[in-house]
Parts: sequence; C-alpha cells; structure tokens
Amino acid sequence: MKTEIIPVGTEILLGNIVDTDSAFLASQLSMLGIDLHFISTVGDNEDRLVDTLRRAWDRADMIIVTGGLGPTGDDITREAIARLLGEEMLVDQELWQELQRLLNRYPGTIPQSNIRQATVIPSAEVVPNRMGTAPGWWIEKDGHIIIALPGPPDEMKLMWQEGILPRLAAKVDGTIILSRAIKTFRLAEARVEELVASLSSLSNPTLATYINPDGVHLRITAKARTEEEARAMISTSEEQIRRVLSDHIWGVDDDTLGSVIGRLMKSKALTLATMESGPEGHLCSTLADNLADLTHFKGGLLACDSEAKAVCGVDATIMEEYGDDSPEVAKGMAHVARKHFRAEVGLGVACNMDCNTNSGDVFTCFSNGRCVRGFSHVLRGDKARMKRRAVFAALFDLRRALLEEVLCT
Ligand code: ATP
Repeated sequence: MKTEIIPVGTEILLGNIVDTDSAFLASQLSMLGIDLHFISTVGDNEDRLVDTLRRAWDRADMIIVTGGLGPTGDDITREAIARLLGEEMLVDQELWQELQRLLNRYPGTIPQSNIRQATVIPSAEVVPNRMGTAPGWWIEKDGHIIIALPGPPDEMKLMWQEGILPRLAAKVDGTIILSRAIKTFRLAEARVEELVASLSSLSNPTLATYINPDGVHLRITAKARTEEEARAMISTSEEQIRRVLSDHIWGVDDDTLGSVIGRLMKSKALTLATMESGPEGHLCSTLADNLADLTHFKGGLLACDSEAKAVCGVDATIMEEYGDDSPEVAKGMAHVARKHFRAEVGLGVACNMDCNTNSGDVFTCFSNGRCVRGFSHVLRGDKARMKRRAVFAALFDLRRALLEEVLCT
C-alpha cells in the first residue's frame, strides 16, 4: 500500500512549528510495513490543498491528511477532500448535538462556525476525538483510503492509536497490534525521552510519549503474528521502562491517580479525609470522581482564606507565624481533616498561586496521628493548570507515602 502524508498548515511552511505529526505517522507506517512514498506539506490554501490531494490520489493508495480540521475559515481540509471526491458537505446532526454538548461546558454562546466540525461527506466515517473538538474522517473509495486527523499532536496520536491503527493493521495482513500505556509523574517529557532513548529508536515495539495533566504517559505498541507474541514484546519493553523510570511510574492503561489511591486505601484498610485551600475543591472532586466506591474516602474540607481555616480548627498562631499557605499550615490542615471526618489518614493541601507571574508553590502533608509526612513542589502555568498540577502532585505524594507504608503504622 503506497502512502502519502499531507500535513496542512502555513505555520509549518513558515517554520513556526515543526512537523512532528509526520515523523510520528512515518514511524507507525514503517512498523506496519506500509510504504511511505511522499510527505507533501501544504499551507492553509484550499486550491493548493486540492491540487496536492489530486496528485497524491494519482500516485498513492492511502492518503493521510493532518491539520486544518478546526472550526475557522482557514481550516480547509474537509472542503478540499469533498472537492477532490466531488461529494457534498452535509451537517451530521448527531455529531452536531454531541459537539454542542461538549462546547456548552464553556461560557458564552457557541460560535456558529463550530458547525463546520460537524460536517461530513457521504463516504466519510467519523473518527471520534476524545481530547478535542475536531473529529477525524476515514474514507474508503475507489480503491483508495483517505484518513483526515487533527493537527494537535496529542489528539492526532490518540486517535491514531485508538481509531486508525487497529483498522489498518487488520487490513495489512491480519497482524496483531497491542499497546499499553505507562503513566509517570514528576518528570519532564524531554527527560522521559532521554531515559528511554534506547527503546524509542526501535521500530517494533514502538514507544511514543504524550504530555497529560497527570504527567507524561508512554505508549508501547507491539506488532506480531500472534497475541501471545505481542504481549511478550510489550512486557519485555515495560520491564525495561520500569527499570529506568521506576518510582515515577504510578499507573498503566485506564488507571487514574484517584483509582490508584482508592485501591491502595482499600488494600491497606485505611480511610482518607482531605482539607484544601488552593485547589478550590478540585482535590475533593478528583478523588470522588475517580473512586469506584467512596468507602475509603470520608470527605473533604475547603477553606478559601485564613479565617475559614481557623474556623475549621487550624491554629491561627501557626498561620500568623508561617504564612497562610506554608508547610506548617498544610500539616495543621491534615490534622484537622483527619479529626473532623474521623479518618485514619488526613491530607492537607495548601497552595499559594500568583496569577501575575503564573507561578506558585504547593505544600502537601499527610498525617495518621502518629506519623506526619510533608512535601513541597513548584507550580507553573495559568491558574487552572496550577490547580490541576497541585492536585496531581498531592495524589502522587499520597501514593508514595502509602507505598512506603509510613502511614500504615
Ligand atoms: P484545531 O481544532 O486545534 O484547530 P486542526 O486540525 O485545525 O485542529 P491546525 O489548526 O492545523 O489543526 O493546527 C493546530 C495546532 O496543532 C498547531 O498550531 C500546532 O501546534 C499543531 N500542529 C498542527 N499540525 C502539526 C504537525 N504537522 N506537527 C506538529 N504539530 C502540529
């Protein structure tokens, strides 16, 4: 199957962004044994994209287009494919409803231009996008396959792994493709890549990294003749990754930090209660959302200022002496949470976040009444990002403390 990749984006031609999408797709195609003959980059210009598509149609069996699937006027991929195939663009009402449901989470009215992301042509099957609003297309027509995926690398890679790869693998020769996600925290993506460099250069199994709010995830993908063989390849690769990333790994596949904490609390027969100031309830809701059952989570207190903390029982003199959000106050909050909810373990999370400099600190503290353990971390980014990081940092620390058994004595 001769293939051509068409990355769409004037930003690429101007040198503003590097075309990492094509590099990822090229490595995936090579793993599948599919020949990639051309990568033809084109700017956000509909006529030039149609020309590029026509040339690719004449010389390739499969065309993969990335980018240009957004809602604005310069997102021209859908229209260009429709023109190439001589098909009419229609609004898929089901897709439009789903998109509106997603966009309703944001304030304000939904711009009418978003309806463009719910348009399809009759020969296109929609490829769902779990991370963003731009769905992809899978088209099979006249002996050709056209795949359209959004430009943002995280969205594109996830859709490839979930919606495209298994389908292509089955088409190629019945090959089995299996993959496994390994989830890490507290390491930058560049550092993760450096540590696993010897594995990333392999063509089978392949290793890709993704940045997520809860840390850097790695995805191992193995291609083999049998499922057993693919599983063995993945487990060898996983062992090697675990050897280098060891303590930074907190979960695999569908694990969330909340579900991992839930399992640990259950296995150690402990109950947890929280008190937070900076994350504004996000800690409590993240835990509650991710726990299969709430038996081991007693509840959470939210105090937005020092007065509220004092009302809940945090010693006012400590706040005066060390500041409202400090390691000492986090310790006081852990004690208050534990006592208030009569839980075995209390978790206190105090953050100071400066939205002018987009920086801050989070202080986490755990207590079981006999043993106290505290951590601190630097935060960066806008407020929403700092809140998320603070929560994941606290949960990651809690997991570590539970594994070290310091809270079980
Ligand atoms: P969106 O809905 O986000 O607009 P889209 O499919 O329209 O998605 P583009 O608008 O073309 O995608 O690109 C959005 C962003 O994705 C770019 O600003 C860039 O950061 C990233 N991106 C696009 N194409 C590539 C590429 N080939 N390689 C790496 N990053 C890319």
